[in-house]
Amino acid sequence: MEIKSFAQNIVGWYHRHCRDLPWRHTRNPYFIWLSEVILQQTRVAQGTPYYLKFVEQYPTIFDLAAAPEQEVMRLWQGLGYYSRARNLHQTAQYIVQNLNGQFPDSYQKLLQLKGIGPYTAAAVASFAYNEAVAVVDGNVYRVLARVFGIDTDVASTAGKKEFAHLAAQLIDQAQPATYNQAIMEFGAIQCQPVSPDCLLCPLQGQCLANATGRVGELPFKTKKTKVRGRFFNYLVFRQGNSIALQLRTNRDIWQQLYDFYLVETDDLVSDLDQLPLENTTGTITGPSRVYTHILTHQRIQAQFWQVHLADSQAGVLPVGLQLYTPDEIEALPKPVLISAYLKEYF
Ligand code: SF4
Repeated sequence: MEIKSFAQNIVGWYHRHCRDLPWRHTRNPYFIWLSEVILQQTRVAQGTPYYLKFVEQYPTIFDLAAAPEQEVMRLWQGLGYYSRARNLHQTAQYIVQNLNGQFPDSYQKLLQLKGIGPYTAAAVASFAYNEAVAVVDGNVYRVLARVFGIDTDVASTAGKKEFAHLAAQLIDQAQPATYNQAIMEFGAIQCQPVSPDCLLCPLQGQCLANATGRVGELPFKTKKTKVRGRFFNYLVFRQGNSIALQLRTNRDIWQQLYDFYLVETDDLVSDLDQLPLENTTGTITGPSRVYTHILTHQRIQAQFWQVHLADSQAGVLPVGLQLYTPDEIEALPKPVLISAYLKEYF
């Protein structure tokens, strides 16, 4: 297909169908970066309120850099992939401390920053500075694989190279920012993963997948994500209105978030006697119902027992746990699973 007509078709479609999204009204690299980090692995409907909250609470990169990490994590709560929030905060601090708060102004310089990979660097460089560097995200892979009939695995090194090379050839040099927005939006709205509306597509006549009946097969992916099952048994120590939580510091999910005393087992347990517990004091009630929490690579099933401590048992908490009042707990960053349990039982 002629490269020029591909770009023209995509941009023409974009002008007719694009959504009015808040980060499309700015050239401020800080806001664009915020939106891109928030929207990675997140749908627009879910990410937009978070973007608006962050912009309101931290209107400049200096505000974000100066915020306590716990506050940033709390604001991020519910978006998942918490390492993104930590990287966001640390990168803001780096830019303030080492670059006088000036955002790097080119693709190559952006790539040097922690947590900024080729996709985010290309998005910020093109949307903020109109640099002609192509974005390649899941939407772009899908559009290119279908229109050009490419069946190389998009997850392979060879596939990544091939798609990046093609994307770089296709970008509209005269309007790279608009073109990049357009192809991502086209993938998100028109060329959707399942049952795209090919009949009403402006690329219908040029699309190889459509012509050869391979729309459902492309893009091609060999690797299936393996999902690991995990079983969490939480002991919720409480004394009066206060509840004991701990900061998760291990290299695991939910780092720097707070949860309860946790015993992980190989299977679901039906009785507390099955848990390897050391002399737990207090009156125990439970278990709760089984909560199922799905992450990209993990399926967690969790049960909760409450351990009621008398006033005289103030000093008997396992190491790492600390008692917090309900107001203090509200302000702590917590996994959605923990918030769901607290909401249901407290
Ligand atoms: S014809 Fe169908 S598969 Fe091809 S680009 Fe359009 S929507 Fe996607």
